[in-house]
Amino acid sequence: MTRLQNKVCIVTGGAQGIGLATARKFAAEGAIVVLSDLRQSAVDEAVAGCAGLPGQVQGEVLDVTQRESVDRVVQKVMATHGRIDVLVNNAGITQDARLQKMSEAQFDNVIDVNLKGVFHCAQAVADVMVEQGSGVILNASSVVGIYGNFGQTNYAATKFGVIGFTKTWSRELGPKGVRVNAVAPGFIATPILSSMPEKVIEDLEHRVPLKRLGRPEEIANAYAFLASDEASYINGAVLEVSGGLTV
Ligand code: NAD
Repeated sequence: MTRLQNKVCIVTGGAQGIGLATARKFAAEGAIVVLSDLRQSAVDEAVAGCAGLPGQVQGEVLDVTQRESVDRVVQKVMATHGRIDVLVNNAGITQDARLQKMSEAQFDNVIDVNLKGVFHCAQAVADVMVEQGSGVILNASSVVGIYGNFGQTNYAATKFGVIGFTKTWSRELGPKGVRVNAVAPGFIATPILSSMPEKVIEDLEHRVPLKRLGRPEEIANAYAFLASDEASYINGAVLEVSGGLTV
């Protein structure tokens, strides 16, 4: 199936985890994917791993916290392809601590990537998409952004904030033909979970009605659907993909 044939799609944080699975899925659906992440070596390795898929995957170094870095990539993509159809605001980090222990640096670092980074990237593509009269912006939220989580004051605030972005931008950009949605994953087996103790992960698995963690590909499938024309009437939504964790 090639639901994203020739669509120009930027994925941030694409070198591993959910971002890499999303870049691969989009390329499998025929997209022209701009796989972006912090380090050149990680980007190169990820792009090499996408060889043989029907679409094209090109790598770019991009730090979402740096507006010049975001603008440079957007300008390059426009110069090369002349359009941007999809932005997946996937890059995200955790720096956990209980409220009483959280440093200002931990707070600021997570806000900078997960919230300000999403703002930078969306703002950088918004004019292009409005001019085209079409486009899709997809934001990475989390069940933690809906229900909170012990030790994640900073992260929960950003993931709740991303829902605020999504609803606001869906109102602002919807009339211009641009859809904006969020995906709220449950607990997905990626490197971001490597800082969690094994016991906590086992407890999480027990809490999920499907009795397992999610796979990055299962989130990538949700992004691919929302990015495609099959989701043409979905705007301002937060799609939870959590194995039923929160029911
Ligand atoms: P991950 O840590 O495996 O990958 C994140 C990627 O983002 C990395 O490649 C990293 O280099 C990149 N990144 C970090 N800071 C960046 C920056 N400043 N600029 C550009 N790239 C940057 O994470 P993941 O588990 O694949 O998560 C991806 C997204 O999904 C994140 O936003 C995360 O919050 C969200 N999410 C993950 C889970 C989960 O259980 N894994 C659950 C809910 C939401």
